[in-house]
Amino acid sequence: MKCSTCNYTGLALAVVDAAGKPFNVCPECSTPITPAEKPWERLGIPKARYLTTQPWKTAKMERKTFEKILIHVSPEAIQCLKHEAEAERLLEAMNLK
Ligand SMILES: [Zn+2]
Repeated sequence: MKCSTCNYTGLALAVVDAAGKPFNVCPECSTPITPAEKPWERLGIPKARYLTTQPWKTAKMERKTFEKILIHVSPEAIQCLKHEAEAERLLEAMNLK
């Protein structure tokens, strides 16, 4: 995401408002950011790779459903999943699995 106020680029901070509705803010200037990110931006991969890897197929979902869920998942959760996948690959590489 890119903040239009301070030009911060990077992950938005996921917060919850008084009504319990999640939204994103800029971690630098706290400007609320509406989740206008593209699904591949959320995953931090280029669009071309997103379209070739078709992650919604891996998830056994309709592309629309997958993208709807993706937009509502916090960037932190995505980072967490990425790290898990990385750990998994490392373990495999070291034959520890
Ligand atoms: Zn900002």
